Amino acid sequence: MKDYYDILGVQRNASSDDIKRAFRKLAHQHHPDKEGGDAEKFKELNRAYQTLGDEKKRAQYDQVGHSTYEQMSSSGGGPGAGGFGGFDFSGFRGGNAQGFDFGDIFGDIFGGGRSGRQAEKRGRHIEMDLPLTFEEAAFGVSRNIGPHRTVTCPDCEGTGAEKGTALKSCTECSGSGQIRTVQQTVIGNFQTMRVCPRCQGDGKLPEKPCHTCSGGGVVRRSKNVEVSIPAGIGDGEVLRVAGEGEAVKGGRSGDLYLTVRMRRHPKFERNGFDVYSEEKISFPQAALGTKIDVNTLDGDVSLKIPVGTQSGTVMRLKSKGVPFLKRTGRGDHYVTVHVVVPTKLTRQQRKSLEGWDD
Ligand SMILES: [Zn+2]
Ligand SMILES: [Zn+2]
Repeated sequence: MKDYYDILGVQRNASSDDIKRAFRKLAHQHHPDKEGGDAEKFKELNRAYQTLGDEKKRAQYDQVGHSTYEQMSSSGGGPGAGGFGGFDFSGFRGGNAQGFDFGDIFGDIFGGGRSGRQAEKRGRHIEMDLPLTFEEAAFGVSRNIGPHRTVTCPDCEGTGAEKGTALKSCTECSGSGQIRTVQQTVIGNFQTMRVCPRCQGDGKLPEKPCHTCSGGGVVRRSKNVEVSIPAGIGDGEVLRVAGEGEAVKGGRSGDLYLTVRMRRHPKFERNGFDVYSEEKISFPQAALGTKIDVNTLDGDVSLKIPVGTQSGTVMRLKSKGVPFLKRTGRGDHYVTVHVVVPTKLTRQQRKSLEGWDD
């Protein structure tokens, strides 16, 4: 189970500044108003930050541990209260039913008259690294990705029943899809409704299970998906491919999350959408001025070196940088010019330099 530190991607000994920075970055990335945003992930981030961003709550969290803390929070008056009407069932995530991600276990805490929300079955999300070259990240690329995952069974189309056979009511839960249990926690006993492990909440079971998926409705396959990576994507950014995570019987598939890992370029560095590179020029070129060819994302571009250029001068090639992500325009390419002082001189060069007193 992911704890709050995992969610924010920080070490347990991270400083409060580190935590704040990590939260801001991720919250920005997953904000639901943003294209490619993810409300569920955003909520998770907020919950983690509500606790880790507060010294007192963080200390308490570290002391009692993740699951106990979340149970305390779910009581309504606890430290990190929030979420569903003051209750938060996320602490009970990840039960015994396979292929579930969240919402599989839901509760009617203390029997307080609040009926559990309908569990939404959701397949697991998949996270993968996406290695890209400098140029691929700059200009975008199309990739065929085939993660090994559960996909809807092609033979029974996910019903779990052998072709031509029917479904019958589940005996374990009498067809309701839910089982009531009493849980003991540090704050007392409470009842929870959980998804029936036998029928996984469907209330129905196949009369004769499908021979391909043994009734599970899903099979493990590596299925390819064409992902179009937008121009301007940066290292560490996460792309969400909706519905390409793991399939689950009777529910929505999870999503596929791809984290961009940009390879280093031999000549270029990147900062935001700007590209940086360095060029060497000779002392006479710097003193007299010249034109040099500079390698850019668009190939070689001529750069004018003005008369009397100093070593370390930064010159800008406008709009030769990385295309902006999801909007028109491009960053710039900055060239730092280094003047090379010769280490060997011909007799004539030496003479002309010696005759030069300034
Ligand atoms: Zn099947
Ligand atoms: Zn059942």
